[in-house]
Amino acid sequence: MAYIALYRKWRPKDFEDVVGQSHITETLQKAIDTDKVAHAYLFSGPRGTGKTSTAKIFARAMNCVHGPTSHPCNECEVCRHIMSGESLDVVEIDAASNRSIEDIRTLRETIKFMPAEGHKKIYIIDEVHMLTTEAFNALLKTLEEPPAHVIFILATTEPERIPMTILSRCQRYEFRRITSEDIAKRLLYVAGQEQIDLTKGAAHILAVQADGGMRDALSMLDQCVSNTSGTIDEGVVRDLLGLIGKDWLFSLAQAIFDGQGDVIIKAVDDVIHMGKEPRVILMELLAHLRAVMLCQAASSSDTLSAYDDCLDELRKQAGEWTPAAVFQVLAILQQALLTAKTSPVPRIAVEMGLLMAARQLNQPPVVPIAAASAAKAPAKPAKTAVAEKPEVVPVPEEDDYSGGYGLEEAVPFPEEEFTSPGPTVGQAPVQEAAAAMPQPARPPVPPAPPRPEPVKAAAPAANVPAPAPSPAAQPVASAEYQDVWKKMCAILDKEKKKAVLSCIRNGRVVYIGEGQVIVAFKTAFMVKRANREDYYKFTDAALSQILGGTYHMQGFLEGDAELDGYEKKKSNLTRPAEPEPLPEEDIPVPAPSQEAASSRDETAWQPASIEDMDEAERAALGPLLKNVGDCNIYIENKK
Ligand SMILES: [Zn+2]
Repeated sequence: MAYIALYRKWRPKDFEDVVGQSHITETLQKAIDTDKVAHAYLFSGPRGTGKTSTAKIFARAMNCVHGPTSHPCNECEVCRHIMSGESLDVVEIDAASNRSIEDIRTLRETIKFMPAEGHKKIYIIDEVHMLTTEAFNALLKTLEEPPAHVIFILATTEPERIPMTILSRCQRYEFRRITSEDIAKRLLYVAGQEQIDLTKGAAHILAVQADGGMRDALSMLDQCVSNTSGTIDEGVVRDLLGLIGKDWLFSLAQAIFDGQGDVIIKAVDDVIHMGKEPRVILMELLAHLRAVMLCQAASSSDTLSAYDDCLDELRKQAGEWTPAAVFQVLAILQQALLTAKTSPVPRIAVEMGLLMAARQLNQPPVVPIAAASAAKAPAKPAKTAVAEKPEVVPVPEEDDYSGGYGLEEAVPFPEEEFTSPGPTVGQAPVQEAAAAMPQPARPPVPPAPPRPEPVKAAAPAANVPAPAPSPAAQPVASAEYQDVWKKMCAILDKEKKKAVLSCIRNGRVVYIGEGQVIVAFKTAFMVKRANREDYYKFTDAALSQILGGTYHMQGFLEGDAELDGYEKKKSNLTRPAEPEPLPEEDIPVPAPSQEAASSRDETAWQPASIEDMDEAERAALGPLLKNVGDCNIYIENKK
């Protein structure tokens, strides 16, 4: 006799056999017993939850020679015909392949005929959401005035795609995702009946992997049976389904929370050498951390049944880490999984995600160089290109001054920052990151609290003496500051000093007088640039042009104590006139052009803003920016 797949052989035969849907089967049985059967039903729910099986039991219940009965005999000729699919009274239509109006018209033709052997003609239309609009309209006419001998059972996994007019004419039943506990129980029952040696742990893994669908669970059990002789235990199941062992998951999770970069990289290496997909690592680890999260929130959750054999270890991990830390890692890994799904080199995305998670937990936040994302960034279109092959790369520099993590000390910024090569794509950055990973002892060190004091402004470049202010320069009324600043930006724009302008336009003029123009910037990054000679020589020239005499611009970080002195000086000058913060839209935004590429202030990196990018670039950078947060973006100007 030909082998019958387990899911077909063990398809439920009675309403009582349908796993996890008693809220539906009991209602249907009651309707049959009290002769209150509707003429159209809609069964919706995830795949493998028993929709078609229930429809077929219902068909037998209606047509059994002893019926209509809530307990069909499954032995009479009618029942047997329905079970073997030979009955003329039960018509099964797969709407996925019979979705046209012609198919529905044919159906309507056959409806006229009375049932051949049973009491009712039952039409089961599976995946009904696949019907075309015309087919739905044709079906609607039938549903409006069905003959008394016809019952429709529509089944779908996507009820939201079914027109309201159809929905309103059906009695609707929603099939639930079957709990993994129920699936595991059924698997163990079937295994017992079939003389299959299935361990409890293995049944739980299969149940969890089936994700609420009984059919998938039985198919997977079938797969295990045909691939092994002997006991089907956890190892067999994990191996066959390409899953990763739980010991490995426990230790990888621990390595992340302990910040052990070398352990992480080695663990990834081992799994990939075993022939597993890099993405599987993230999916499995996410499932594991979800279990940790659920263990912290509700230790009796159904999902934890997969951890029956190592619940103590799970509880230990759940107790060691704070929920906030687990959320943080989950968020980073989910993002990494999204990136890995579209990345041509998913391994990098996986390694980067794991290392970033470890780093976030064990260090104050640092803006990382995104090696993998840089590789994915599409080439800029020619119209906005400032160079032949630009790449969008965030400069690794703190930009959020309000954070104040003392990044200047944490990450020394190289002097030749503008000419340093962009990050290379490949293993190197990841390995470097791994090497740089701290190795704290357990329990993990929580992230350092933000420093209360702001980053000290960088002093002007020491080797270039600032020009001496001219004695002729007189204090300027603060009401005019904004006007002066606008004029200066206009001059810089006209002179095509794009890099200077994009830095300067974010400044706030605090004081103009005694040959000085004091400007506050929100980031140390901007202050540093503003105080470089190749920046201020242009602003100073423009200021002198506007104000007459010699002026020198000096940048400070917002909140710097020195600014207080200048604020006082200003208020002494003009008490009533308080300058408004500069509205950004008034200042010309530099637009890269062909001329810009040849201009004198050109550097190896051109600032870019996310607003200036096209859809594709934004989409490519989006996931990265989500992780990195607020940062400056520069386009490398490769010659
Ligand atoms: Zn029967």
